[in-house]
Amino acid sequence: MNIHEYQTKDLLKGYGVPVPQGKVAHTDANAATAAEDIGGERWVVKAQIHAGGRGKGGGVKVAESVDQVRQYADQMIGSSLVTPQTGPEGRLVHRVLVEEASSIVKEFYLGLVIDRATQRITVIASDSGGMEIEEVARKNPERVVREVIDPAVGMQDFQCRKTAARIGLTGKQMSGAVKMMKALYRCFRDKDALLAEINPLALVEDGSLVAVDAKMSFDGNALYKQSDITELRDFDEEDPKEVEATGHGLNYIALDGDVGCIVNGAGLAMATMDAISFHGGKPANFLDVGGGASPEKVGNAFRIVLQDDNVKIILVNIFAGINRCDWIAEGLVQAMKDLDINVPIVVRLAGTNVEQGREILKSSGFPFIMAGNLDDAATRVVDKLKGATP
Ligand code: GDP
Ligand code: MN
Repeated sequence: MNIHEYQTKDLLKGYGVPVPQGKVAHTDANAATAAEDIGGERWVVKAQIHAGGRGKGGGVKVAESVDQVRQYADQMIGSSLVTPQTGPEGRLVHRVLVEEASSIVKEFYLGLVIDRATQRITVIASDSGGMEIEEVARKNPERVVREVIDPAVGMQDFQCRKTAARIGLTGKQMSGAVKMMKALYRCFRDKDALLAEINPLALVEDGSLVAVDAKMSFDGNALYKQSDITELRDFDEEDPKEVEATGHGLNYIALDGDVGCIVNGAGLAMATMDAISFHGGKPANFLDVGGGASPEKVGNAFRIVLQDDNVKIILVNIFAGINRCDWIAEGLVQAMKDLDINVPIVVRLAGTNVEQGREILKSSGFPFIMAGNLDDAATRVVDKLKGATP
């Protein structure tokens, strides 16, 4: 789960990370008041969306007067911000963060991630932070340094000093960086984060280090024990289909193909998407209805998959162990009766009560396309799509 920059900064501030003074605003008038409250002569107005690259898309503006703060806020709030990370449709901006502008001398990068290969929290740092960090990682990987944290002893001071030295920080700045790394690590570990990123970590005019931009994301499977983080969730930033699916106990992830998938079990859902791709199709979603899928759950799965206008065909792939094929079949027939479904449906059923399941589908009178196995199902889906699009 992702949170906004202003929320991340609030959280990190509590752990002792220096961040610029700032306030969030939902209207241009509030933004102007925020700038007055903060004081000073220059402010930054920053669009709050769950995507980076805002600087490149016009979502980060330095204002020289309160009036300019108001203008920038007015332009951003309610507009759709397109950045290299949002896709062409962009993201609707609901609020901005107004901050005192920092006088940046140099931009560094500091991040913590969980490295899946070593299964450990890993520090990533660079002396070439800012908006081109992805480019730096690609073209000059030697400018990006890594330090792996041993979970048995946690982050050690020497590791922080070594990392700081490798990105060229010495003296007072080194001790600032060490403090910041330790604070970031404590927050990361306490809150079950998957990613914590300060970019830029800015060296400012007075010689101190400040987190000018910060981003964190958290492990969704740990949210049950992180109520303060759960409260920061912003449903406006999530796909409404995914939110609805979660409410129905379904695991749904929207993708950009045209084959809707309704499958039981995450592994089988992945295999189904692979099979579709292997035969030349493109899945429109990942969907795991889970074990013991009631007819009602199957109906919900259909409704959510069909909310995606790109879906031209649906593949239902059920391998029933805990599930029962007859229940699934009843759910399918009920969905056909309840919903206005005008795309072809390919069904592959296997496992418990498969004969009863097939019988229910056959005698329903609906034109289900029956498939024998997964490969057969994927082939039928792709053939049908080819036939349908001249
Ligand atoms: P991102 O593009 O979404 O990562 O947004 P950032 O908050 O990182 O802002 C992008 C860039 O704007 C930074 O890399 C800085 O160069 C610049 N920037 C942001 N805030 C300030 C500020 O307070 N002062 C100055 N001088 N530049 C800033
Ligand atoms: Mn940034």
